[in-house]
Amino acid sequence: MSSSEFPSFLSPRLGPRSEPESAEDPAVMRPTPISLDVQLPPTIISPSFTPVTVPSTPVPIPVISTPQPSESLPDILPEVECVVRARIPTTSGSEIFLHLYKNNMDDKEHLAIVFGNKIRSKSLDRVREGETEMDRMIRGAYVGRLYPGRQTSAEDNISPEENVVKDAATLVRIHSECYTGETAWSARCDCGEQLDEAARLMSKENHGVVVYLRQEGRGIGLGEKLKAYNLQDLGADTVTANLLLRHPADARSYSLATAILLDLGLTEIRLLTNNPDKIAAVEGKHREIKVRERVPMVPIAWRNHSGGIRSKEVEGYLKTKVRSLVNYQRLSLC
Ligand SMILES: [Zn+2]
Repeated sequence: MSSSEFPSFLSPRLGPRSEPESAEDPAVMRPTPISLDVQLPPTIISPSFTPVTVPSTPVPIPVISTPQPSESLPDILPEVECVVRARIPTTSGSEIFLHLYKNNMDDKEHLAIVFGNKIRSKSLDRVREGETEMDRMIRGAYVGRLYPGRQTSAEDNISPEENVVKDAATLVRIHSECYTGETAWSARCDCGEQLDEAARLMSKENHGVVVYLRQEGRGIGLGEKLKAYNLQDLGADTVTANLLLRHPADARSYSLATAILLDLGLTEIRLLTNNPDKIAAVEGKHREIKVRERVPMVPIAWRNHSGGIRSKEVEGYLKTKVRSLVNYQRLSLC
């Protein structure tokens, strides 16, 4: 099969270059040296940073005054709709309800990982025109449990305590996708560990939500992130590597998370994060959500001498994270 027989969606064949390179000219072939010496901006505000030694159950930090919302936050939140929800029994024994969302901002499948059965999505429960009871059950808009032969999506054998709404603000983690840290066993960052820790704390309460945003590599995508890793191996730190690739140090946005939390009826939350600046971002420009407490996440390797991720890369990563928080108050890497 010649390349001309491949269907049109395959990569196009490239035409000749308009300025052909001369292999004989060493000046053309020599790579341009790059400088890894990018200066970070000076300290703006000193952060309230988590102490290194804390017990394994994190101590919540009350949020007395929320930082001013940034002017860059959007005025109007994106529209989100929960397309489908399904029960997932997990290897730890607890059950989660995975909620898959679509939105009017991008075409990615953002997720809400809901612990316990007290949190419901308004957009999922809304009755859609022409749908049958079976349609509703298939897309997860049922109350209680599914079982063979069930006929209705409405309330079914719910024990009274299952419907009790918790008084305490719900524990929430906003987590950005990290393929390398969560799936490819990377020791360059602690994202996998943080996701596990969030799940552990929420399983313990049998209540909570991880909003899982598909913004890989701090929003720059996996391909660019891998280039940044190569720059790190060349001596740049995580922030500098992004700047060298002409990406912002952090390209993530949290307005989708705010919209998803509102859809789940969560207006008062406890936020699991080390980044105080995330509070204003998640609360939204008009404070649609109120963060009552910030619950710190301390790397397991800093809490005891046996568990957690240990590598020279993750040490450098965490140092940069601390330095970046001091300098920018807005970075939680990956
Ligand atoms: Zn990561």
